[in-house]
Amino acid sequence: MLVTATEMLKKAKAGHYAVGHFNINNLEWTKSILLTAQELESPVILGVSEGAGKYMGGFEVVSAMVRALDKSLGITVPVALHLDHGSYDGCYKCIKAGFTSIMFDGSHFDIDENVAKTTELVHAAHQLGLSIEAEVGGIGGEEDGVVSMGECADPEECAKITALGVDMLAAGIGNIHGVYPEGWPGLRFDVLDDIQKKTGAMPLVLHGGTGIPDEMVKKAITLGVSKVNVNTECQLVFAEATRKYVEAGKDLEGKGFDPRKLLAPGTEAIKAKVKEKILLFGSDGKAFN
Ligand SMILES: [Zn+2]
Repeated sequence: MLVTATEMLKKAKAGHYAVGHFNINNLEWTKSILLTAQELESPVILGVSEGAGKYMGGFEVVSAMVRALDKSLGITVPVALHLDHGSYDGCYKCIKAGFTSIMFDGSHFDIDENVAKTTELVHAAHQLGLSIEAEVGGIGGEEDGVVSMGECADPEECAKITALGVDMLAAGIGNIHGVYPEGWPGLRFDVLDDIQKKTGAMPLVLHGGTGIPDEMVKKAITLGVSKVNVNTECQLVFAEATRKYVEAGKDLEGKGFDPRKLLAPGTEAIKAKVKEKILLFGSDGKAFN
């Protein structure tokens, strides 16, 4: 069932667990995540980056695919279709394409411009019943070819953006996209604590979930994180499982080259990873209560 992220995250924040946001790249990704969430009776957020949206043929194609799969697979858990790190234009495209949630990444603008653009998009999203995530403080790692260490958001700026009526807030606390480099100092729980105090009931979002030690993720959830984004980790296990299949020569046996066979180990690997994360975040069994 396609819904906005608002209710599921409010419930998660109140219930001290987090909803997994898993990025999708194709049919295998989408099916794996939906079926695993259904099996575990967990709400789930399907994240689509602008790049992945383009890769799949555009946001309309993605929206149609997700809606059709949701129906044909008999999915009854709450599913949000969410634009990840949207540009200003990307947000409008996804609103039009039937997404149920968007993220406006205004972290690279100065705070006044971030406020102005976020205000407008909050209005546009809420008018059509979508939820909206905003970002304060850049998240490190490689994004659009720019590599940086994780920044920390200013708690005052977080309060300012929260006051605009966004439904979830991504605030940098030293987290990074992609694989964490050697010597990464870890999440800044002191900053998270300050942000939490300044933003009250606002569900906080932790980007760059790949490679953050489980104990740190759990602690972040106790400090108000209600959505954790996972992308690279699913890509890594998919690639690893596919490589093993090919290296074992299985694509050369019988009809092993058939994509339904060739992509099956990767698909199963994504399911296992998503299951592991849902159990870590504690959203299993939370879909219907
Ligand atoms: Zn992110």
